[in-house]
This record gives sequence, structure tokens and C-alpha cells, in this order.
Amino acid sequence: MGILFIVATPIGNLQDITLRAIEVLKREEYIACEDTRMAARLLRHIGIRGDKMLVSYFEHNEEKRIPNIINVLKNGKNVALISDAGTPGISDPGFRLIRAVLREGIRVEAIPGPSALTTALVASGLPTDKFLFLGFLPLKEGNRIRLLQNLKKGLKLIESTVIIYESPHKIVKNLKSIMDVFGDIEITVARELTKIYEEVRTENVSVFITKYSENKPKGELVVLFTIKDLNPS
Ligand code: SAM
Repeated sequence: MGILFIVATPIGNLQDITLRAIEVLKREEYIACEDTRMAARLLRHIGIRGDKMLVSYFEHNEEKRIPNIINVLKNGKNVALISDAGTPGISDPGFRLIRAVLREGIRVEAIPGPSALTTALVASGLPTDKFLFLGFLPLKEGNRIRLLQNLKKGLKLIESTVIIYESPHKIVKNLKSIMDVFGDIEITVARELTKIYEEVRTENVSVFITKYSENKPKGELVVLFTIKDLNPS
């Protein structure tokens, strides 16, 4: 039986890849990836050319691809799983494959590395001892507000930093929902992490709503906040 390697790759800056990740990607013939063009770009950057079997694996073809990848593993070949950015499985396809592979009794090894989640958390200066990662907020406003209301109740019991993945198209709507539920709290927005225009700013939600309504933000974003009093008197 082969091994499924879950390989973390950069979230922007292509230099952010571990020696072990490079070794695995150089060595293994089969690479399951979201977008073959993005994968080829990364492989070129780390000096890998040509002869790899790039198998595209994304949300809408998972069901078809899982049995193929399991077959490759059962035939004794290793497979390296990468996503477009960061750690596969973190708000990225991968979880279902990893689960299915484990259920077949096949070995899985994670090669740790970058994730926007941990990078944003440490750069925010918010408490890191307890944090709650929500991934992307629900698209439907009703579901989003319900989730945030439940979150508010939970946060009163377990004070923790909240981390939410965002996109430039949806951030204004989502920030308005946060303001509806939590009021005009202070939040941190981490944008374009590890890239040239990286920006980590802390302001009240209303400030970001005004700013991003006037000019849609560029690049990828992470929103963080806590309702814990960080300056108790
Ligand atoms: N698997 C990835 C990880 O480990 O972070 C996450 C993939 S998820 C599809 C994409 C989201 O991650 C973006 O919408 C954004 O919230 C966050 N993200 C990824 N790269 C980022 C970056 N360079 N700066 C800020 N946020 C980023």
C-alpha cells in the first residue's frame, strides 16, 4: 500500500515551503491537486519539471476521483495531496479524500506548513491560547445571522479569538452581519498575507464597512475578533 502525504504549500509567497514538502513533491510521481496549472507553477518554482502525474481533485469531482486515488494507493504508489494554497483540508477539498483513505486502512502523513489561519492569528496580536475557526460564513443571511447569534452565546462562556475566512466580494455583507449581532466591535483584517501588499489592520467594524464599500479590497482576507476585554481595569 502507498501513503497519502498531505503537503502544505505557500499561501502567497512561494518561498514559504518546507524542505520536507519539496522532498515529497520531488519524490512522488502522483500529485493530487485542485488546479493543475497552479500546481505546475509551484512545481516549476521548486525546480520540478515534467514527468509528474497531476490528478485534479476539487470539490465537484471528489466523488469520482476518490476511488481512482485509492486505487493508485492500493497499487503501492504514494500520492501527495496539495491544494491551491496552504494546508489541504483547511477550508479546501481534501477532508473527504483523507477520511476515505483512512477508512481503507491506508496510511496518511501530514507534512505541516503554512496556513492563512495560523498566520493571521499570530500576526493579529489577539489571544492565541483559545481560538475558534469558523471557515467561511454561510452565504444565506438568515443562516449567517443565526450562526453569529449562537457564536455570541458561546463566546460568553468560552472567551476565544474568532477566525473567519473571507473573500473580497462578500466581506461587506458579512461585516454588516457581524455588526448586526456584535455591535461596532473592534476587528482585525489580515489581507494578502505573505505577499508584497500584506496588511494587518485593527479598526472598528464600521470603519472597514465604509472603507470596503467605497473600494472593494484586493486579495484574500481573514477576519479576526474577540469579545474578551483585553484591557481590564
Ligand atoms: N487551505 C488554505 C489555508 O490553509 O489557509 C485556505 C484555503 S481557502 C479556500 C482560501 C481562504 O484562505 C481565503 O478566502 C482567505 O480567507 C484565506 N487566505 C488564503 N491565503 C491568504 C492570504 N495570503 N492572505 C489572507 N488570507 C488568505
